[in-house]
Amino acid sequence: MKPEIKIPFNKPFQSGKELTYIQDAIHRGKISGNGHYTQLCQEFFEKRYGFQKCLLTTSCTDALEMAALLCDIQPGDEVIVPSFTFVSTTNAFVLRGAKVVFVDSKSDHPNMDEKLIEELITTKTKAIVVVHYGGVPCEMDTILEIADRYHLLVIEDAAQGIDSFYQGKALGSMGHLGCMSFHETKNIQSGEGGMLMINDPSLIKRAEILWEKGTERVAFSRGEVQKYGWVDQGSSFLPSELTAAFLWAQLENLDVIQLRRKAIWEDYFGAFNREEVQSHVLAPKYLELIKTLNSSSSYLKFSANAHLFFLLFPSLATRSIYINSLRENGILAVFHYQSLHRSEFAKRHFPDQYQRDLPNSDYYSDCLLRLPLFYELPKLSKQFE
Ligand SMILES: *Cc1c(COP(=O)(O)O)cnc(C)c1O
Repeated sequence: MKPEIKIPFNKPFQSGKELTYIQDAIHRGKISGNGHYTQLCQEFFEKRYGFQKCLLTTSCTDALEMAALLCDIQPGDEVIVPSFTFVSTTNAFVLRGAKVVFVDSKSDHPNMDEKLIEELITTKTKAIVVVHYGGVPCEMDTILEIADRYHLLVIEDAAQGIDSFYQGKALGSMGHLGCMSFHETKNIQSGEGGMLMINDPSLIKRAEILWEKGTERVAFSRGEVQKYGWVDQGSSFLPSELTAAFLWAQLENLDVIQLRRKAIWEDYFGAFNREEVQSHVLAPKYLELIKTLNSSSSYLKFSANAHLFFLLFPSLATRSIYINSLRENGILAVFHYQSLHRSEFAKRHFPDQYQRDLPNSDYYSDCLLRLPLFYELPKLSKQFE
């Protein structure tokens, strides 16, 4: 018999105002995209985080696809991406015919190792895609300096990066383009949802055109042009007002959500950082399992957003034992990405990448375990006492 699930891995936040705002959007009579709530959400982000221009999208995947279009990626161009990331980070560029070149993770954090980037650059390299894992920033100073020197575009996959900062700058505000996710597994959610942040002002006009099916409809709605027609490539990247209204009900609660998530993160950290608690929580045979505690030093160094809390185990086998032991106690904990350079797709389409040895990425694929972290999670200390 399967044990009853007492603590799920995730429970999407709900503020209680979602239906009120959705109803209001319906009463306003404009339910398609780029209406009242879309504007509210976009302005919220622009004002609070200093993004030059924000455009809501139906997902972070869509925002990444817009980024690839805006970078004018052509078949044969090379794009440098981490191997330890979500498929959308690479797919967006592969869809445009790019060859992806994978960077390994750092030995002390799943983020891409900035020291390994320069040796991967060729005359075909066009962009670097940075992924801020768990809302912990990559070494942007170094990455931006390299990109500048080689005239490369920088796209920040800040899917998990809301309300996280690098030297006071919001994640997603430092590259030419940034992408954020409001998928239900993220800190702020609208079921599916995302946003493109355009920090290079020269890309804003085209971004608005791509967003609205290759037309100047956005400029038209502002009264800047008399009519709109087909002027460029494009697609329907914008979400409906129903999604934006839902998102607004979440954004109003951003500070409350963040406070709670950070308290839970600290709670976990405190619990696992005390030896006597470790030996109590983990049955004796698991005592040696935890090799490194999370991104503790990175987390304390940067003001990260408590998107996730992970443990690292010495091996796949020990991690599996721990996952099963938690499950027997009704707690769902899950592993995360599997190295993309070792994927089926890479094997078929990028065999040279498949051959490469990226040991740190493989290590996080096998040994990283994420613990439940959501707004309603009951106070942990109780369970550890
Ligand atoms: C969640 C996530 C995405 C995809 O976001 P969607 O909104 O689901 O498309 C992309 N990259 C990273 C790093 C993510 O965590």
